Amino acid sequence: MTPRRVVVVGAGSCGCVVAERLSRGDDVLVTLVEAGRDTPTDADLRVSRLPVGPDAHRVRRHRTVDGLDLVRGSGVGGSSVVNGGYFLRGHRTDLDGWDRRWWDIDTVERFHRILDGGGSGGVMSVRRVDDTELHPRAVAFERYWHRTGYDLVGTEWPTVGVNRVRVNADRVRRVSADRAFLTAAVRARPSLRVLADTTVDEVLVSDGTATGVRAGGETIPADEVILCAGTLASATLLARSVGRTPSTFPLGEHREILVRYRERTPAPRTRAGVPLLPTVLHTEDGFEIRCYNADFADHITGVARSGPAVGVAGMVPGASGHLTVDADGAVGIDIGAAEAVGDGMRRWSHRVVEMLEGAAHADLVEEGSVTIDPVLATSHHAWGTMPMGAATDALGGVIGVEGLRVVDGSILPSALSSGPHATTMMMAARIADAIAEPLSARSGIVGS
Ligand SMILES: Cc1cc2nc3c(=O)[nH]c(=O)nc-3n(C[C@H](O)[C@H](O)[C@H](O)COP(=O)(O)OP(=O)(O)OC[C@H]3O[C@@H](n4cnc5c(N)ncnc54)[C@H](O)[C@@H]3O)c2cc1C
Repeated sequence: MTPRRVVVVGAGSCGCVVAERLSRGDDVLVTLVEAGRDTPTDADLRVSRLPVGPDAHRVRRHRTVDGLDLVRGSGVGGSSVVNGGYFLRGHRTDLDGWDRRWWDIDTVERFHRILDGGGSGGVMSVRRVDDTELHPRAVAFERYWHRTGYDLVGTEWPTVGVNRVRVNADRVRRVSADRAFLTAAVRARPSLRVLADTTVDEVLVSDGTATGVRAGGETIPADEVILCAGTLASATLLARSVGRTPSTFPLGEHREILVRYRERTPAPRTRAGVPLLPTVLHTEDGFEIRCYNADFADHITGVARSGPAVGVAGMVPGASGHLTVDADGAVGIDIGAAEAVGDGMRRWSHRVVEMLEGAAHADLVEEGSVTIDPVLATSHHAWGTMPMGAATDALGGVIGVEGLRVVDGSILPSALSSGPHATTMMMAARIADAIAEPLSARSGIVGS
C-alpha cells in the first residue's frame, strides 16, 4: 500500500502533537515543515528566563494596530518554547458551544489527562505550583481573596475562585511540545521527516483540493495538508493561497491591565526556577486576576525594572479583534478595541488597588505607590481566526477545500477562562487521534 503523504505546516504546540500521532504507523509519511530553527536548547527552556525580550532568537514579532508587539514563538516547539509555562485547563463551561459529537466532556477529559495526568504528570509533565514557591505577595493575594469569599480551588478543572497555577515545567525547565512529543525515538521514525528553517509560502490547491505546499522554492506534494502555523500565520497562509484576499478573520485576545506598586521593604527575590505567575483569581464575570511572583525584569532579559504587578485580564468573552489580509497579501492585526473590555477591567483594576492599599498588604506595599498602568496590554494568547464550526468543521477541516485542515489556536471556537495552551494542545491531540483512525490501525497517543 502506498503511504499517504501528509504535510504538517508549523512545528509548534499543535504541530508536534499532530506529527507524532500521525507518524506512528507505516501507512502515513509525515513531513513537518517549520519556518524557524530546530530544537530549543536547555537554556531556552529555563523557568527563570522567558526568552521573549528584545534579543530573543526564537520569536516573531507582529505589530498590532494599537502599537503593541504581539509575540509568537518561532522554531521547533513554537510558542511552547517561549511561553509562561502556565498550563491550566479552561473551565468546563467554556466548552458549552463545542460540537458534542466530537467534544463530549469524557473525550475532552481523556485527552487532557494524557497531557496533564489529571492535574499532575502526563506527557507535558504538569505540576501544581506548591506553597514553598509563593512569594509573600502571592500568599497575601490568596488569603485576601479567600477572606472575601472566594474558594481555593483544588481540582484539575479550574472554576471561579483562587486557582493555584499548574505548570508544564519542573523546577528548572519548561517542557516544550517538541521535548514531550518529538523525542529522539519519534524523530528517528522513517515515517517522519522534520524540515526546520523552511517556510511554507503557499498551500497548493487544485480543483478545490489541497495537493501540497510550496516551501523555499520547492514543491512538497501531499494527500493532506494540515496547517499548524498558529493563529496568525495559518489564516494568512490560507488567505494568500486560496485566493481569498482581501479577507477579514475574527481574532480573540485576552487583554490585560497591570496594577503596579512599590514594595514597602524590598522583599526577598523569588528563587530561580519559581514560575512568574503562581496563582490567579477567576471571577464570576470572566476576569483573571494574576498575581505575578516577581518583577518582569527578573524573568525577561532586556526589560526595564518596573516593580511587582497584579494583572487584570479580560478572559470571557475576551477582546474581539480582526486579522486582515489585503489584496496584496499584507497583514493587519487588531487585537480588540479597548472599549470592548474596558469597563470590567477598570472595575477590577480598582478592586485590585483596594486590595493592595488595604490592611492585608500593609507590610508589603509602600503607601501611595499603587498605580494603574495606562497601557492596555496583551497576554499574547491570540486565537480563533478560523473557528471550528464556522470556518472549519468540528475537526478543523477547512470548509470548501478538500484535504486541508487547520489544527492550532486558529480553530478555538470561543474564549477560554484560562490561558489557551492546555486547551489548544488537548484539541490537537483529540483531532490527531480522530483523523489517524482511517490512516492507521493504531490508536492512542504518546503516554496513553
Ligand atoms: C510569549 C507568550 C507567552 C504565552 N504564555 C502562555 C501561558 O503561560 N499559558 C498559556 O496557556 N498560553 C500562553 N501563551 C499562548 C500559547 O503558547 C499558544 O496559544 C500556543 O502555544 C499556540 O500553539 P499553536 O500550535 O497554535 O502555535 P505555535 O506554538 O505558535 O506554533 C506555530 C509554529 O508554526 C511556525 N510557522 C508559522 N508560519 C509558518 C510557515 N509559513 N511555514 C512553516 N512554519 C510556520 C512557527 O514558526 C511556529 O513554530 C503564550 C504565548 C506567547 C507567545
